Amino acid sequence: MRDGKGLDTMIIDCHGHYTTAPVELGEYREAQKAQLARDALFEHNKGVVRISDDQIRDSLEGAQLKLQRERHTDLTVFSPRASWMGHHIGNPSTSRCWTEHCNDLIHRITQLYPGNFAGVAQLPQSPGDGLQASAAELERCVTEFGFVGCNLNPDPSGGYWTSPPLGDRYWYPIYEKMSELDVPAMVHVSAACNPCFHTTGSHYLSADTTAFMQMMTADDLFTDFPDLKFIIPHGGGAVPYHWGRFRGLADMMGRPPLTELLKCNVFFDTCVYHQPGIDLLLKVIPADNILFASEMVGAVRGIDPETGHHFDDTKRYIDAADIGDADRKKIFELNSRRVFSHLASRLTADGPTGGVQS
Ligand SMILES: [Zn+2]
Repeated sequence: MRDGKGLDTMIIDCHGHYTTAPVELGEYREAQKAQLARDALFEHNKGVVRISDDQIRDSLEGAQLKLQRERHTDLTVFSPRASWMGHHIGNPSTSRCWTEHCNDLIHRITQLYPGNFAGVAQLPQSPGDGLQASAAELERCVTEFGFVGCNLNPDPSGGYWTSPPLGDRYWYPIYEKMSELDVPAMVHVSAACNPCFHTTGSHYLSADTTAFMQMMTADDLFTDFPDLKFIIPHGGGAVPYHWGRFRGLADMMGRPPLTELLKCNVFFDTCVYHQPGIDLLLKVIPADNILFASEMVGAVRGIDPETGHHFDDTKRYIDAADIGDADRKKIFELNSRRVFSHLASRLTADGPTGGVQS
């Protein structure tokens, strides 16, 4: 696909969610909640979610696939609806059964549309529980389904931040599995159950900022796991805007310069919904550490009255940005291929669109 400047590049959107799933998925969740209302310790069985292939096609054709065509993007790295992960709900068996169904659906989507979607796993996290079940589910999704990454929730309590920071050894079981499988994690919270936070406004963006600060202050994380890769979504929250503050804090705390921290470990996506924000991101963060993304169909679905285009049509902002072709190609394609190393087995190097294999 050509970008807005006529550059031959594949356009990989590294952040999309299945926000349009058929109602049967939501009904399964409501049934889980009803069981929990009677017994908070209810031990769930996985059971079944009856959704046909035609229902899946119908749920995507008028939404994500339509937007891919309209916006001229090629491949979406696709995960279950983030606000529905709801790790704070119920107990570990609740999260395990729910997560497996959500990931099973993503797998079916990647089979129905192998050229349009690559799968990313939800993890069955649960507050106070270890990460062993998450490591097992990640392994299932990567080895059996061909998924290329996962979404890791730094706050499975849903806005109360009861888990240790991301540098703590609590998280090491999932880091070990990510390293073993060579897959990255997008650090992505779910819905806030703390009324002080609006889920997609303050909770998402403050979590992105918090995750970066936790990584910045983690003593051993990237020495223990030198190949670990994190994507901080939504443009990195407040981080690029306050880059000077974070650089100053790193200096005061005797931490390495932030460009050292980013290097091959920390990446930001482009889910920033206005041109000045994207321009700032591109000016502050090295092009090697930025991955194109839109998070469609996601949190902000309207049309910007100032531009007449959808807020989340982020390709327009990258097309219009004052950067060179080499950097634009890195952001649209090459960085995602590097971070999601398993994409290589889905894509060939030839052809203007990367020659997607089925
Ligand atoms: Zn998201």
